[in-house]
Amino acid sequence: MTSRLLGKTPLIVLAGPSGAGKTSVARRLVAKDEKFVFSISATTRCSRGNEIHGVDYLFLSQTDFRTMEEAGGFLEWAEVHGQKYGTPLEQLETASRLEKFLIMDIDVQGAAQVKSEVEDAIMIFVIPPSAKVLLERLKSRGTEERDRLIERLRNAREEVAQANTFDYVLVNEDLDQLVSQIQKIVTLEDQGALEGIDLSGKIRQFQTGIDEVLDGILK
Ligand code: 5GP
Repeated sequence: MTSRLLGKTPLIVLAGPSGAGKTSVARRLVAKDEKFVFSISATTRCSRGNEIHGVDYLFLSQTDFRTMEEAGGFLEWAEVHGQKYGTPLEQLETASRLEKFLIMDIDVQGAAQVKSEVEDAIMIFVIPPSAKVLLERLKSRGTEERDRLIERLRNAREEVAQANTFDYVLVNEDLDQLVSQIQKIVTLEDQGALEGIDLSGKIRQFQTGIDEVLDGILK
């Protein structure tokens, strides 16, 4: 079979609001399918305790992040919830050497930068099944402080408004199902045989749901 993508460091970008389950799906995909490798981002935020430097993230100081940025060491970087996050170019080199698909879990600003640099990147937007589920996921992650919760929900609403700039919008109802959908998309894209799916109705419904949840919190 001819591959449209291999040899070019094929990039699979997973973007979407925090709490959509991007990291879990990327990790499950990499564990299940050896064609994929996870892109380890650099960040200035601190480790959440169970996260390991060099496995989950490269945890850098502000100075080291800036030095790397000034040296042109990032494919993209962005400030998210007050911290810097970026994809080291080294991740692309590693994926290329291993001849694997690089799966990137990044925010929408970074995703836009990737798309402008790498036209062939497969852009996937992941949304939670509903605003209520997002709220529960954010709470269970320890984002309980009211102001931070409101900030993340508002960010989610803004991010979701950009979903229509992506090639695919997938709903994270079930992790294994999502992994299979991504495998299918990548296989068919690799053969140049797939086009995007229109989920604009689902996105509007999700945005309205966030408004209702925010109304409930702010009352
Ligand atoms: P968290 O701090 O919850 O791990 O991640 C916060 C947000 O930053 C998530 O939306 C995640 O996708 C995004 N993010 C993680 N790594 C990168 C990166 O390398 N670049 C960009 N632009 N965003 C990232």
